[in-house]
Order: sequence, then C-alpha cells, then structure tokens
Amino acid sequence: MTLMTLFDSSTFPSDLQPGEPVLVSSCLLGEVTTWDGKHDFVSELVELLERAEVEIIPICPEVLGGLPIPRPPAEPPAGNGFDVLDGKSPVLVVGDSPETGSDATEAFLSGAHQVVEMAQVRGVRYAWMNERSPSCGVLKSHSGGGLADGPGVASAALERAGVTVFPGQV
Ligand code: SF4
Repeated sequence: MTLMTLFDSSTFPSDLQPGEPVLVSSCLLGEVTTWDGKHDFVSELVELLERAEVEIIPICPEVLGGLPIPRPPAEPPAGNGFDVLDGKSPVLVVGDSPETGSDATEAFLSGAHQVVEMAQVRGVRYAWMNERSPSCGVLKSHSGGGLADGPGVASAALERAGVTVFPGQV
C-alpha cells in the first residue's frame, strides 16, 4: 500500500506551508501516552508531515489534563465530545479498576482547553488526531461502551476553535 492510498485530499490538505505548526496526537507519533501504556504510531502520517516540512507539535490532551500513563480508560456514558463540552455528559472511568465510575470530566476538559490555547497561540490551522479516542477521535469516539458519531472532547474543542481536524489513521 502506498502513501497516496492511505491519505488523500480529504485527510491531508494540499496547502500546508513549510514551517507551519500543526498539532498531532502524541501517540500517533510513537510516544507512549495511551491509556494502556502503548502508542499508535502511524509511519505514513509522520512521513507525509515530514515531507511537507511542517512543524509537528505533539499533544496528548489526557496527559495535559493531568492523567497518568497508564490510566484506566474513561469515556462519556452517552454522546460525543461536543456533549461533554456543553455539560450534557460527563466523562467517567470505565472498566474494572477500583476507579471505575469516577469522574474524569475535569481532566478531559482541562486537556482540551490547553490544546485549544496552544493552537490559538501558534496559529494552528490543522490537526491530526487519533481516531476513536474519547479525547482525540475525529469521526467516531468511544462512548457508552461503543462508538458515538462525532469527535472526542479535545477534537471537538479544536473544531469549535476553527482548527480543521483530520483522523490520523485512514
Ligand atoms: S489522549 Fe489522544 S494523544 Fe493522548 S494517548 Fe489518547 S489518543 Fe493519544
């Protein structure tokens, strides 16, 4: 499979400028930041961004929000990141850890707001985020024991701030 079949104009813009700052979910870059202490490295994305000579700014909203690595998984019981931003749904720890049911909303919102602030300070136009994550999902995000349509909390906040958010995996 070639790079051209993995990303197209709907997932990789043609007007990126050399040196332009872009946000990328840190786990997509190979950083060990996922809830289960792993990464989700996508070499094709990194190669395309390097070819475009952009400035890659790694971000992990959940770690920025103060959550540890590893950490118990958490997700909204219903709805997507917009619902969390609007106070319509919390983010609750799920799974079978002693923390199950505890409220992680504040950490998720804090991380999302910090990411937006970074984007605004640096004039970021584009972000690539880890699809299906309750923070970074773009088209789908974990919710209610399954997948909801719509972004996770940080991607939703970036979209509201005017950043175009692409899924980091296609
Ligand atoms: S919050 Fe986003 S960047 Fe951090 S590990 Fe999860 S998907 Fe990756």
